[in-house]
Amino acid sequence: MDLDTIAEKVLAGDRRALSRAITLVESSRADHREAAARLIQRLARERRQALRIGLSGTPGVGKSTFIESFGMMLTRDGLKVAVLAVDPSSARSGGSILGDKTRMDRLARAPGAYIRPSPSQTHLGGIARRSREAVAVCEAAGFDVVLIETVGVGQSETVVAEISDLFLLLLAPAGGDELQGVKRGIMEMADMILINKADGELKSAASRTCADYAGALRLLRKRPQDPEGFPKALMVSATEQSGLDAAWGQMQTLAEWRRANGHLEAARSAQARYWFREEVKQGLLAELETEKARSRMASLAEAVARGETTPAIAAGEMLSELHRR
Ligand code: GDP
Repeated sequence: MDLDTIAEKVLAGDRRALSRAITLVESSRADHREAAARLIQRLARERRQALRIGLSGTPGVGKSTFIESFGMMLTRDGLKVAVLAVDPSSARSGGSILGDKTRMDRLARAPGAYIRPSPSQTHLGGIARRSREAVAVCEAAGFDVVLIETVGVGQSETVVAEISDLFLLLLAPAGGDELQGVKRGIMEMADMILINKADGELKSAASRTCADYAGALRLLRKRPQDPEGFPKALMVSATEQSGLDAAWGQMQTLAEWRRANGHLEAARSAQARYWFREEVKQGLLAELETEKARSRMASLAEAVARGETTPAIAAGEMLSELHRR
């Protein structure tokens, strides 16, 4: 398939072309990168938009169970749902693969749904670009909702928050009264905190946890992109499928308010600026990774270590050599 054919078929909603396109954007081969960039530019002309929902949570909180139940509910409503994963763990030590279809068996078979497991790993910069472009491909393919799943480690949450319209944090009921060590920065990123497993014996713990987080969220500074009452903490049960419609209702309320007030577009513009700057940074870092640059770095580092020159002077030399190339 040539690029035009892939683009046309993606726009027509062809699943095989969609998978081909995502494979292309996931590739790090230079010729693939170039083709992917052209493909994304072509697809962007259509200006199709999905609601992009980022979802983060540590392993075991019920992300895949939630995505399956939530995704099934949306597809029953006639919506088309794509599920992508941002997984920065270089060694998947025992944890399950994000976006693994066997973890979302029913959703994987649902006609309106598309699940893409996380690609094999590189550095976060590469993952961010791939994920962003995979989202763009899914939007062009006509999905109404794109769910982007990640585990709560390192910087992957920032990556997901910077490609999402709404960012959800999924938590499990806490045993004690502590706030589960959720970092403040992550709470500040969240548009909604969902306390999962609010069922059976865990229900009362879930309701305490939910109240704790609702209280903690109220203490945060009100953000301009939020209507009154947001960010919110809500209880859900992915296995009993309860609270999911209420959560979806709140997501829609928030998204509609932001759309009506220009915040959704403004956030996407800010994200585009952010990713532009990130790409430039990544590009500069990549220039340091060439063989020539590495050996020059090594010899300058030695000279600095021997005291023949200073770190600042050696760095200045290195940078001007890079600029000359
Ligand atoms: P993930 O690692 O975040 O994707 O978590 P999973 O979706 O694999 O779920 C981890 C475990 O929690 C599994 O045993 C699920 O059956 C269980 N689980 C998920 N959602 C719920 C829920 O709503 N209620 C209860 N009681 N258990 C749940």
